[in-house]
Amino acid sequence: MTSRRPIVAGNWKMHLNRSAAAELVAALRGALDGFAGVDIILCPPTPWLADTADAVRGTTLQVGAQNVHWEPHGAFTGEVSAAMLTGLVDYVIIGHSERRHVFGETDDATAKKLDAVLGLGMRPILAVGELREEREAGQTPAVLERQLRAVFANVDRLPEGFVVAYEPVWAIGTGLTATPELAQEACADVRRIVADRFGETAAETCRIQYGGSVNAENAASLAAQPDIDGLLVGGASLNAEAFTAICRAVATTKGS
Ligand code: PEP
Repeated sequence: MTSRRPIVAGNWKMHLNRSAAAELVAALRGALDGFAGVDIILCPPTPWLADTADAVRGTTLQVGAQNVHWEPHGAFTGEVSAAMLTGLVDYVIIGHSERRHVFGETDDATAKKLDAVLGLGMRPILAVGELREEREAGQTPAVLERQLRAVFANVDRLPEGFVVAYEPVWAIGTGLTATPELAQEACADVRRIVADRFGETAAETCRIQYGGSVNAENAASLAAQPDIDGLLVGGASLNAEAFTAICRAVATTKGS
C-alpha cells in the first residue's frame, strides 16, 4: 500500500453532446459517488464543464479541464484562461500529447500553462510521453527528462500530490497499451527526474498516472506497479461501466 492517494481521470476529449455528457455524469455519479480511496476526475469538453460541475457538486467526484491558456484574459479567440476555470474545475490537464502533436504546442507553452495553473493554486495533471520513434531509438528517458525539465523551469516547489501522467504517444487511442513493466520503468524515470529537480520528498508524494489504451481488463496489472499511482483514461472513460471497473481495479490493487 502506498501513502500516495490513487487518482483516476477520464479524458472525454471532443466527444459527447450535451445530453450524452449529462447521462454519463449521472451514471458515474450513481456508480462512483462515495467511492473510497481513489480521487476520480471527470474531464468533459469545455462547454459541458459547468453542467458537470453542477451535477457532481456535493459528491466525491471532481472535475477537470482538458486544456487552458496561460494569459488571464485578452484577444485569444477560442481560448479559456486558468483564471476563468478557477472555482469551476479542480484539475487541469496540461501538455496532453494531442495538444503537443496535433496542435503543435511546445514545451515552452506547456511551461507557461503549468505556471498559470499553479499560480492560481489549481491542480495540474501534467502529461508527458515519447513518440514511437523516440521509444524505438531508446530515447524515452531523455524525452521525459527534456519535457519535465522544460515545464519545471520556473517552478520552485511542487505542491503535495502533484500529478504527472506518463502517456506514451504510441499507446494513446491505438489499443497498444504499454506492458506494465514498460510503464513502470518510465514512471520510475519520471519519479527520478522529479527527485533530481525537487528532492526525494516531492518525488515520494508526486502521483504518477499511466495513460494509453487503458481498459477494464488491463487496469489492475498497470495499477499494481509500484510507481503507477493511477490512470488517465481516454476512450474507456466514455463508458460508465468500463470507467467504473477501472476505478474499482485501481482501488482494489492499491489496497483501499
Ligand atoms: C488520453 O486521452 O489521455 C488517453 C490515454 O486515451 P486512450 O485511453 O483512449 O488511449
